[in-house]
Amino acid sequence: MQTDKGITIGILALQGDYEAHKKMIDQIGGATTILVRSVEELQKCDGVIIPGGESTTIGKLLVKHDIIEPLIHKVQDGMPLYGTCAGMILMAKEIEGSEQTRLGVTNISVARNAFGRQVDSFEAQIPFSSLEGEAVEGVFIRAPYVTKTWGDVEILAKYQDKIVGVREKNMLATAFHPELTSDTRVHELFLKMVRSSVRNVSKP
Ligand code: GLN
Repeated sequence: MQTDKGITIGILALQGDYEAHKKMIDQIGGATTILVRSVEELQKCDGVIIPGGESTTIGKLLVKHDIIEPLIHKVQDGMPLYGTCAGMILMAKEIEGSEQTRLGVTNISVARNAFGRQVDSFEAQIPFSSLEGEAVEGVFIRAPYVTKTWGDVEILAKYQDKIVGVREKNMLATAFHPELTSDTRVHELFLKMVRSSVRNVSKP
């Protein structure tokens, strides 16, 4: 459904599977998408997606491109942020056994590559609260999971008792990759979060 193009979704495009996110948002329609590699591009965004990839590399590039501090500030000011896999790792306040660069905006602790080497990647049906209909098809690729949550974090999805989907206010994170499936519901949820934040900001 093509509605107004009033919102702009930025997909952080320093490394990782950013094209797949762009394709999915473009397919849903109703938003302009831009690839973000600079502060100027970041400033145009009403919401940002951090893709899967390699979290240590993306972290280093965020610093190199001087995007990290402005991104943290925008998120703390209420701009919606969605991270998948490496994106979830970068959002976390705590990363077990790692001092790597991160945004550190979400009240979660994560373990990287947490499902073990022997199950490098797998797919599973993931019940996802706050989404209508059947379970989400979860594609996990060297995925993290959430080992601890605090503050206002809401647990949205679990796989075998491990937390793999969370929301905290304007932040959404999944350990898996909906952008690699044909199910658009998680991205639609994110677009809804962006629309409602834009409405709130523009209220007199
Ligand atoms: N294992 C990667 C990391 O730690 C994340 C993998 C992914 O994003 N698919 O950054």
